[in-house]
Amino acid sequence: MTLFLNLKGYAQKILRRGSLFYNILQELKNNEQLSYEQLINYQNQKLRLTVKKAYQTVPYYRQLFDELKLTPEAIKTIDDLQLLPIMSKSDIRGKEKQFVSNAVPWKYKTTTSGTTGTPVNLFRDYYNINFEHATFWRRRSWGKCSLDDPMVILKGDIIIPANATKPPFWKYVSSDNMLLMSSYHLSDRFIPYYLDKLRNFNSSIIEGFPSNIYRLARYMQLHQELPLNFKAVFTSSETLLPHQCQVIEEYLGQIFDYYGQSERVAHFSHCEHGNNHYVMDYSIVEFLPTKSSGLYKIVGTTLHNAAMPLIRYDTKDFVRISHRSCPCGRAFPVVDLIEGRQEDYIATPCGKFVGGIGIVFTNVPNLIEGQIIQEEIDSLRVLIVTTENFTDDDRNVLLKNIRERLGANMEIIIQKTAAIPRTKRGKFKLTLSKLNSKYGAQRELYSELSIQENNNHYGNSTAQFTGSR
Ligand SMILES: [Zn+2]
Repeated sequence: MTLFLNLKGYAQKILRRGSLFYNILQELKNNEQLSYEQLINYQNQKLRLTVKKAYQTVPYYRQLFDELKLTPEAIKTIDDLQLLPIMSKSDIRGKEKQFVSNAVPWKYKTTTSGTTGTPVNLFRDYYNINFEHATFWRRRSWGKCSLDDPMVILKGDIIIPANATKPPFWKYVSSDNMLLMSSYHLSDRFIPYYLDKLRNFNSSIIEGFPSNIYRLARYMQLHQELPLNFKAVFTSSETLLPHQCQVIEEYLGQIFDYYGQSERVAHFSHCEHGNNHYVMDYSIVEFLPTKSSGLYKIVGTTLHNAAMPLIRYDTKDFVRISHRSCPCGRAFPVVDLIEGRQEDYIATPCGKFVGGIGIVFTNVPNLIEGQIIQEEIDSLRVLIVTTENFTDDDRNVLLKNIRERLGANMEIIIQKTAAIPRTKRGKFKLTLSKLNSKYGAQRELYSELSIQENNNHYGNSTAQFTGSR
């Protein structure tokens, strides 16, 4: 297994850090010095190239432009994007070949990571793989990390057999000077072994899903362990919750959370000042106002993947936009909060959709983690993992937190459990809604989460961004 991981690691390193990598990394570092207007120019220039190639080599876009009686030259700037329809995963599913360029001979295949429906195949070219890796390392440089720093990864990788009961619960991958740790063995019984290994490995970076990193930090808090002091803690792929931040930063180090998706149409990243930046040289993001005040839908356009360009792709994720600038001086606009996926919202009997629900688990003593499952419009099942000291008073704090946000009209069933199941990719889901499969997804079209009519273009929403440079 270790030999396989090392061979795979070296092969990936050759691919990702190819001849293009260092040039792209330098370009990305230079982009941090650009003004907001220069970044818009950069996006427009890449957009024109993307649209031209898409029309020339991608069957779906050739047909779409022809049907709309548009030429690629009609899309000169971001504002022109509104001439094209918004599309989503369901448009691609089963028709992937239509979205793939016939001019890119070698493509790397991945799949979407969604938990609902059949995964969609996605394709990337060699440039995109190097670009993505360069983005990854620029992000790490924001945490003062360098290319040679040893790192610990605590994501959803299957590293050792599920039934393993003694260490090592990790594998060292020499190609990347990286310790891959299993998140499936993070229990009170085994965490002491993890902590011993982490103290000896002496890594400056730890990266993983927030729930896994928090599990480790929460154990340290409950058992009064000494902090580990990483230079940077990188988290992604799940919504980072306020109560998780507090404990992680106290026991492990400063958090640099980032947001992305397999489709690679939008990227937001925390800088050293804790602000979440819309990374403008990665893609174009349209922030489309919804009927809920201050809440915007994230629709993205790839700028660096000729193999499968996605134009105006609806991520089904939501964000709140900030008016703040950041002392770091980068002109990338600051966004406030990634509210999470449409499917993560809780619907209430009075017709509201409530997001950011993870906050209900804040300040609940002796709670390790919790998940909210909605099977009916008027009832929720809340699964919780607790320490043995969890009391009825603690349960009442949780109940009060939920009622404050969702009203008194819902039945709330709190159930203790030994562990909350993860998805196939090892991700923790804060909420699970079974309403769509029961009642159909159409209801969302009429909800406050839908995009405002006649207001769905870039200019309206991004007029708020003036940039800090
Ligand atoms: Zn900043």
